[in-house]
Amino acid sequence: MVLSGCRLSWNREYVNLLRLTATEALELMKRGEISSSEFTGAFLSQIDRHDDDVFAFLNVTGESAREEAAAIDASASGRPALAGLPTAIKDVLCTRGVTTTCASKMLENYNPIYTATCVQRMKDAGIVTLGKTNMDEFAMGSSTENSAYGPTRNPWDLERVPGGSSGGSAAAVAAGECVWALGSDTGGSIRQPAAFCGVVGLKPTYGSVSRYGLIAFASSFDQVGPITKNVRDAHLMLQFLVGKDPLDSTSVEYPVEIPPLEDRDLSGVRLGIVKELVGEGFDSGVMETFSKAVAMLEAAGAEIGEASLPHVEYALPAYYILAPAEASANLARFDGVRYGLRAGDTSGITEMYEETRRIGFGDEVKRRIMLGTHALSSGYYDAYYGQAQKVRTLMVQDFASALGQFDMLISPTAPTTAFRLGEKTGDPLTMYKSDICTIPVNLAGLPAISIPAGLSEGLPVGLQIIGKAFTAPTLLQTAYSAETAIGFGRVSPLIEGQD
Ligand code: GLN
Repeated sequence: MVLSGCRLSWNREYVNLLRLTATEALELMKRGEISSSEFTGAFLSQIDRHDDDVFAFLNVTGESAREEAAAIDASASGRPALAGLPTAIKDVLCTRGVTTTCASKMLENYNPIYTATCVQRMKDAGIVTLGKTNMDEFAMGSSTENSAYGPTRNPWDLERVPGGSSGGSAAAVAAGECVWALGSDTGGSIRQPAAFCGVVGLKPTYGSVSRYGLIAFASSFDQVGPITKNVRDAHLMLQFLVGKDPLDSTSVEYPVEIPPLEDRDLSGVRLGIVKELVGEGFDSGVMETFSKAVAMLEAAGAEIGEASLPHVEYALPAYYILAPAEASANLARFDGVRYGLRAGDTSGITEMYEETRRIGFGDEVKRRIMLGTHALSSGYYDAYYGQAQKVRTLMVQDFASALGQFDMLISPTAPTTAFRLGEKTGDPLTMYKSDICTIPVNLAGLPAISIPAGLSEGLPVGLQIIGKAFTAPTLLQTAYSAETAIGFGRVSPLIEGQD
């Protein structure tokens, strides 16, 4: 049965709307071949069919999405740049009037009075918002299993995790439940789920995208970015995200132009494989797929060499001091007074604070708050927080030196493919290791992208490309050429099933 397709009038060709990229859909909508209502409807039907299983969305705003789409279709005055593109938004981003939970019980009933700048910019450009996506509670996790509302499942294999913490956004794109999505990345939360779900995820340079309205996890790491079907769409969305925001003092005017992508090969591009991020501890299937992809990049003209980040083994331990330290401070605001949940039946304010935080936060969030508070406590501050900050500086230096020798660095995005639900929940350290390739990049604030490198035993493997600060345009051009060289061209069975 054909449920999500349409026949285009000029040659009666059948098009599965769920397969269209944002760029393609935009073109078809501009030409009047499809309407935003039709396009939005296709995703809402796909959500109806599959989201009980996938659980990518915490909240589908179907009615307002249809209204937004109808308004775009009816508007006679010129179309805004992203007019009619059905978009999913990670539930870490505040949306005015739409419940924003951060996948926590603490914010079960939190209705923000403002919209995150990045979302607002995309709304101003005409997107249709489909709803809010599932995630690890307060973005802490690598599998979306830390959501207080239940895990998201991977569209390639429903017994497996989609990665995390932006697992809902990545799964929604991979399942054909939206054309693209917004995610956030503190230690890998855009790139690792993109890798697990066979889609593209870009973490921009720290400071490129406003964090206003992004519920803070670790403020010196957090960065919003696109999760898309291909590099071209990431390139398109990025232009609407970047730029100085007076409401976020850490945001900057993006210092360079973002020129159009060009069809060219990788001639003259020097790529360094980070030698510490391949080999030991990595699945053989991941390594095989990665190596094949590298051979294709080389065949497309790239000069491949070996790069080194000598201190990278300390990146994970340093991150798990610094990020929890910042989180413990950021999450102090959830006390039953200002936002969301307040425990009833308590006597006195101290008990109210304690009980609210006891019932409002999940185990992983509590673990991070305890780790962070401990690392910042007097007597331990220098030993933990101070040391970790020094490691951060060493990582910055390591990257500067490696990126002095190469244009960009490459590695697998994660050491494994999507693992089974429950496989790592009993052992936080094993879970933390999922981000071994992505976390170093956040310590240095650099931009990095994950693109599909191929499949291993039917599951997607990601290729990570890391660039110098504020070189997203070059990074995207390289990723675009790499994507062409690799020619992945696969979609999850949930989209394929609708052909
Ligand atoms: N998995 C990492 C963590 O749990 C990164 C999460 C993220 O990037 N938000 O901290």
